[in-house]
Amino acid sequence: MTVAERSPHMTDGTVTERRDVVVVGGGQAGLAIGYFLAEQGRHFTILEAAEQPAAAWRARWDSLKLFTPARYDTLPGFAFPGEPDRYPTRDEVAEYLTDYARHFDLPVELGSRVRSISRTSGLYLVELDDRAYEAEQVVVATGPFQVPRVPPIAERLDPEVLQLHSSVYRSPAAIPEGAVLVVGGGNTGFQIAEELSASHEVHLSIGSRQTPLPQRFLGRDLFWHLERTGLIYKTTASRIGRRMEGRDTLIGSNPRRLRRRHGVQLHGRAVDVDGSTVAFSDGTSLHAATVIWATGFGVDHSWIDVPVFDADGRVAHRRGVTEAPGLYFLGLTWQHTRGSALLGWVKDDAAYIADRIAAFEPEAPIGAQRREPQAA
Ligand SMILES: Cc1cc2nc3c(=O)[nH]c(=O)nc-3n(C[C@H](O)[C@H](O)[C@H](O)COP(=O)(O)OP(=O)(O)OC[C@H]3O[C@@H](n4cnc5c(N)ncnc54)[C@H](O)[C@@H]3O)c2cc1C
Repeated sequence: MTVAERSPHMTDGTVTERRDVVVVGGGQAGLAIGYFLAEQGRHFTILEAAEQPAAAWRARWDSLKLFTPARYDTLPGFAFPGEPDRYPTRDEVAEYLTDYARHFDLPVELGSRVRSISRTSGLYLVELDDRAYEAEQVVVATGPFQVPRVPPIAERLDPEVLQLHSSVYRSPAAIPEGAVLVVGGGNTGFQIAEELSASHEVHLSIGSRQTPLPQRFLGRDLFWHLERTGLIYKTTASRIGRRMEGRDTLIGSNPRRLRRRHGVQLHGRAVDVDGSTVAFSDGTSLHAATVIWATGFGVDHSWIDVPVFDADGRVAHRRGVTEAPGLYFLGLTWQHTRGSALLGWVKDDAAYIADRIAAFEPEAPIGAQRREPQAA
C-alpha cells in the first residue's frame, strides 16, 4: 500500500506521510527534543521553514555575543566546543547547532514551513505547501521571538527617517550618518546603542526600566550564581519564580554606564511622532536620521487550528503540555523556568516532554471503544 493510499486526509496533489512525532521548528528547542526522540528510537521528523540550519541565530546582528558563557550553551549529549568561560559569537552558535544536528544525524527537513496543524479522528494533520504529515504527537518548537513588534507611532514617522526593527539591524556600517534613536531599554536596545556609539550620535529611549545585573561578580559569571543558588531552576509555580518572570533583566549593561562611558543620551518612553520628530515621556524630543525599534517580538500561532489558546491567544499549557492529547510546545519564554528559552537549559523541558511522549497512550478511534455489557 502506498503512503498516499493510507491517508484519509489526502487532498489532490498532496502526499501525506506518517510519523510517530512531528517536530515543527529546527532551532535549539527542536534539536533538543530531536535528541531525546532519537534516543527513544521514534519515527519522527523535524520540519524547519528556513533553508539553512540555525536560522534565528544567523538573522541576528553581526557582532552579537552570547550573555551565557559556553559552559551554559550546551544542548543534551554534545558539549559546546572551546574554552568554557568565553562568550561565544552568533556565528559560533550557528555552527554548533549545525554540527549538533549532523552529529546525531537528526532528521531535519529544511525549507519546510508548516502552514497548519489540525486534528481529526485522533491524529494530527501537519500541512505544508507541497505535502502533509500525519502524526499521533506534535511538538511546536517555533521559537519565542517570531514577529517583530513595533509601536503604532512608527507609522507616522516621516519617510525621510530610516526606520528598522532590531531584527533587521546588522552592523553600524549600514546605518547612515546622523543621529540614531534606538527605542527599547532591553538587552537588545542597550547592546545596539553601545555598538553604534563608537561611530554615531546615539540616543536610547527607555520605556520601562529593567533590573540591571552584572555579567560577572565575585569573580564568576551571573549564570554560575543563578545555577549555584538554584534560581535558574525556580519554576512559574513558585512565588520567587513568578516574581522573576514579571521582572525583565538587563545583563551586563546599565543606563549610567551607557551614558557616561559611551556618551549615549537617554530619554523616556517614545510616546509620539510628528513628522521626523519623536517625543518622549520626559518632555524631550529628537529629530533623528535613523530609528531602530528594539521593541521586542510577539509570537504567531494563528496557523495552529487546535483549541489550546486562551482568549488573548496565549498557549494554555502546563510545562509545555497542552489539553490536546499529544500536542506540546517547547522553547516558550518562561515555559517552566528562566532557562526554558535558553540554550543550556532547554534540555530540561525537552526531557520532560520526551517522557510525556513516551508515556502517551493514543485515544481509541471513535467507534472502536469496547462496549460494557448492558445490565439486564
Ligand atoms: C538577541 C538575542 C540574544 C540571545 N542571546 C542568548 C544567549 O546569550 N544565551 C541563550 O541561552 N539564549 C539567548 N537568546 C534566547 C534563545 O536562546 C534564542 O532566542 C533561541 O533562538 C531560541 O531557540 P528556539 O529553538 O526556541 O527558537 P528559534 O531559534 O527561533 O528556532 C525556531 C525555528 O522554527 C522555525 N519555524 C518557525 N515557524 C515555523 C513553521 N511554521 N514551520 C517550520 N519551521 C518554523 C524558524 O525558522 C526557526 O528556525 C537570545 C535571543 C535573542 C533574541
